[in-house]
Amino acid sequence: MSTSSTTRPPIRQLAPNVINKIAAGEVIERPASVVKELLENSVDSGADQIEIIVEKGGTEAITIIDNGCGIPHDQLELAVTSHATSKISDADDLFRVGTFGFRGEALASIASVSQCVIRSRSADQETGFELIINGGNTESLAPCSQPFGTSISIRELFYNTPVRRKFMRTVQTEMGHITEAFTRVALAYPNLGLKLTHNTRTLHHLHASENWQDRISAFFGPEIADKLIPIESEHNDIKLSGFVVDPSVSRANNRMQYLFLNGRYIRDRSLQHALTESYRGLLMTGRYPVVFLKLDIPYDQVDVNVHPAKLEVRFQDGGKIYSQLLGTIRNRFLSTDLTAKAQLQKPSGNEPSESSVNPKSFALNAPPNESQSRMDFRPTAPVRDFTSAPVGQGPGSMSAGSHSVPAFKPFPGAMPIRQPINPNDPFAPTSSETRSAEQVALEQVAFPTTPASMPRQTALQVHNTYLITETEEGMVVIDQHALHERIIYEQLREKVLADKVESQKLLVPEPVTLPPSDAAAVLDQKDTLKKLGIEVEEFGGDTVLVSAYPAMLAKQNPAEMLRGIVESLTTEGSEPDRRDLIDELLHMMSCKAAVKAGDELTPEEISDLLNYRELCQDAHHCPHGRPTALVFSREDLDKKFKRI
Ligand code: ADP
Ligand code: MG
Repeated sequence: MSTSSTTRPPIRQLAPNVINKIAAGEVIERPASVVKELLENSVDSGADQIEIIVEKGGTEAITIIDNGCGIPHDQLELAVTSHATSKISDADDLFRVGTFGFRGEALASIASVSQCVIRSRSADQETGFELIINGGNTESLAPCSQPFGTSISIRELFYNTPVRRKFMRTVQTEMGHITEAFTRVALAYPNLGLKLTHNTRTLHHLHASENWQDRISAFFGPEIADKLIPIESEHNDIKLSGFVVDPSVSRANNRMQYLFLNGRYIRDRSLQHALTESYRGLLMTGRYPVVFLKLDIPYDQVDVNVHPAKLEVRFQDGGKIYSQLLGTIRNRFLSTDLTAKAQLQKPSGNEPSESSVNPKSFALNAPPNESQSRMDFRPTAPVRDFTSAPVGQGPGSMSAGSHSVPAFKPFPGAMPIRQPINPNDPFAPTSSETRSAEQVALEQVAFPTTPASMPRQTALQVHNTYLITETEEGMVVIDQHALHERIIYEQLREKVLADKVESQKLLVPEPVTLPPSDAAAVLDQKDTLKKLGIEVEEFGGDTVLVSAYPAMLAKQNPAEMLRGIVESLTTEGSEPDRRDLIDELLHMMSCKAAVKAGDELTPEEISDLLNYRELCQDAHHCPHGRPTALVFSREDLDKKFKRI
């Protein structure tokens, strides 16, 4: 996307007929927009080293330094006027845009709402020049010492537009947006050396790398980097390449779908839909795949001039790209043995499973009473510790033999995925494999009996997943996870509505480090979380302190739980209202706390589940809308057995 440093055309004011064709719109909404525009200019300048220094989330200062082609001193003033650009010259160029910028608006917009200092020196200049502009008015232009390249410093953003200044959120929120803008460019250009500093703290220092995996790993660590599945295809000049992430990793929103079109981060509903389709059957409903994909399309087949921030684009033939994306990923999955991989990861014996990594469990603060039943719904009873569930049994996971997949829609075609129920399944866990150490311990101690007021009920547990019981109508098959989830959800909801969630104060608050935008989102919703019994405090930096926790979830790993919450909080789209948000969080919490498919239940636990089923308002569906039970009527059974 960069232009060469010596052959850059001069900056010119666009002609009115070109200006009229440009998608108008305010591009500078917040500090992150400044960072995005300046960063993109530096990439366009051919720089290979770019440094960004931010103070107070950009509300105080943003400085960006690059070693690109620079701006000749006689063009400095022109660069900050509206519609002045060196990147296109006539209307036809709009259809072959190969740079980030082309509208010539950003510098002018930024300079008009801030105190701006631009220092630049192009390759043919003896010295640098410094231009100072305040609120759009040039204060001075004078020689200065400056290495080759450009350095732009923005202070007091929106100082002369008080309304917009008021709209800036907390330093953390703004910094979160800045980090995201930085991430998008840094991911698209692994060959750039980049540094991001906030209040003297280095957040990212990325060395140029030829390897995209290194860059992805620098941002998202091994959780993602170890699960990348490369994909590649080329059809009629349209090149698709990059990585899809193994379905065992998913997110509650689509924010981790990084799509780059000709080096530009884009969001595209149709392509997001193709991604959802390509993972169909591999993810639980409500979960989104994680991908890092590059699309290279001839410039004349895509219009980037449709959205002010150029986030959305228009493809000449969107259907073709949709099919290519969907087809490439599906084919890749067909030839990838996702199941075998999951099998390899399965813990043997009593070794802690992958999802049981629970370095700082709540045991310190609230010693879990191992002898209490997972089905004891009385106040303060610790519910099933999902962190010790066998691999692949956490929500959203998809692994062979886990049998935790009744919600998965069947994948059309021949997917090499294990069906949930298959007694002959060689990958199916044996009962000793599915039992964690804790479960074994649980089985050896007596469980409290069902409250006397409730009758003892029995059911047959099959595949450690379904409970089969009878009613007057016929035979009922219950999904144990879905039902338990429903019960917990209703109980928790009732408590939340009555403001009676039992919250457990932690003796030692638990620090949880999150990406800055996530930390900000959590702190912004502090009050909502408090209603759910979760108390969080700011700890400085990107760390949030969890100081209280719902007693029902006493054995959950706080970091894990908080991450789940963040996903619900940051789902892209319109801001959820508080009620929706609480409901969404309740879903998430109950899902995590409920027994999983694959968990062997004791007769007492089965009895409790069946009893509480009768107390549920809607025992038919889990909070996500899946059925909790199927009924096979006596009449139907009789017919099938040719009794009638
Ligand atoms: P656009 O990027 O759409 O051309 P901008 O207002 O962002 O418009 O920038 C105006 C012009 O200033 C650019 O076309 C480019 O010539 C010049 N410019 C801006 N930033 C830099 C930079 N960091 N290095 C070199 N030239 C720059
Ligand atoms: Mg620009």
